[in-house]
Amino acid sequence: KKKIDIVEKKHCNIGTIGHVDHGKTTLTSAITKVLSQHGSAKYVSYDDIDKAPEEKARGITINAAHVGYSTKARHYAHTDCPGHADYIRNMISGASQMDAAILVVAANDGPMPQTREHLLLAKQVGIQYLIVYINKVDLVDADVIELVEIEMREMLSDFGYDGNKVPVIMGSALKALNDDKSEIGAPSILKLLDTIDNYIPPIIRDLEAPFLMPIDNAFTVPGRGTVIIGTIKRGVMRKNDEAELMGFGQNIKTTLSDIQIFRSSVPEAIAGDNVGVLLRGMKLRVVETGMLLCAAKSETLSNHFQAKVYFLSRSEGGRKKPIFSKYSQQMFSGTWNIACRIDLEPTVDMMMPGDHGVVYLTLLESMVMTQGQPFTIRENNVTVGTGIITATLK
Ligand code: GDP
Ligand code: MG
Repeated sequence: KKKIDIVEKKHCNIGTIGHVDHGKTTLTSAITKVLSQHGSAKYVSYDDIDKAPEEKARGITINAAHVGYSTKARHYAHTDCPGHADYIRNMISGASQMDAAILVVAANDGPMPQTREHLLLAKQVGIQYLIVYINKVDLVDADVIELVEIEMREMLSDFGYDGNKVPVIMGSALKALNDDKSEIGAPSILKLLDTIDNYIPPIIRDLEAPFLMPIDNAFTVPGRGTVIIGTIKRGVMRKNDEAELMGFGQNIKTTLSDIQIFRSSVPEAIAGDNVGVLLRGMKLRVVETGMLLCAAKSETLSNHFQAKVYFLSRSEGGRKKPIFSKYSQQMFSGTWNIACRIDLEPTVDMMMPGDHGVVYLTLLESMVMTQGQPFTIRENNVTVGTGIITATLK
């Protein structure tokens, strides 16, 4: 078996997460300040980050600042949100899909409720790499810092990260921002960036996994069959591979008779390629946008999913009334939509507009959905909820 690794980009989406006032914005500004002295960032002041512009992402408004900087290893696009609610919206709607996050925790407070909440969300939305920055170490003694580190490592393990392996850096973002050259000042920022460069591997396209391609379009070639168009999301497709076309309750076995890139036949195509695939004998009328072309026996159809959802508040144009179990609406994801019933956790009586939490979706027809797949819930063509799939259930 040929092992192909292709480095997709020397680019990484990162962000600061953690409890309010623990120093996320100060750290973001300090990173740009320290790197600006090495010529690889433009200094962005605390105030410029904090007055982040409003974004309309999938019908919900998020305040988020996007700051860019480079190290020797990579270019980073860094997201910092002003408020807790902005983090929840940003992460749940997948507005900025972070590859990694810097979890900021103040040494004088230790982990706080929003530290836990952001950590839980990070796990649920599939952020693989976390780096902890214990901030404000100027305010406490060494043994307090040590205790915070122990607490953080335990908490990381509780949430399914490898608490022993996650790098923990100590420092003072404020001192770094004020050009302090002592160990906890600017050098702590360089150490953090160095650690991030080394800890996060190059982002590699997933070519080992079975192939998967969402259907963008389809047409008939008279006498040959149906050609479906899409961009391969993961894996490698080879001519004559067995496949399944799945979605809307259907699971149709088929064979990749021909694969074309830019109208020329190719023996194989990989993740990221935009292809046309000829499925011999396939009837065009059964192909629907929203179906997936999957490697044979690699995916499961289900009409039952667990999801994390945020219901827009009234002022964001959301519902006025609470949401109870058996709430039925249309769910939209990508280019398709389907009728769906939402049930709350058994312990939850109702959710209010502005609330977020775990819900259970039952779709009218079974689909293939992947972890982290974003969706919205609309009522009379108005977005009332936004979420991501966290698990496929039976
Ligand atoms: P955020 O809410 O997590 O973005 O926190 P901010 O960056 O706004 O910081 C909250 C407060 O903590 C501000 O008054 C900062 O000046 C202060 N702060 C940030 N980092 C440090 C630090 O390293 N030491 C001290 N003593 N204060 C800090
Ligand atoms: Mg902030």
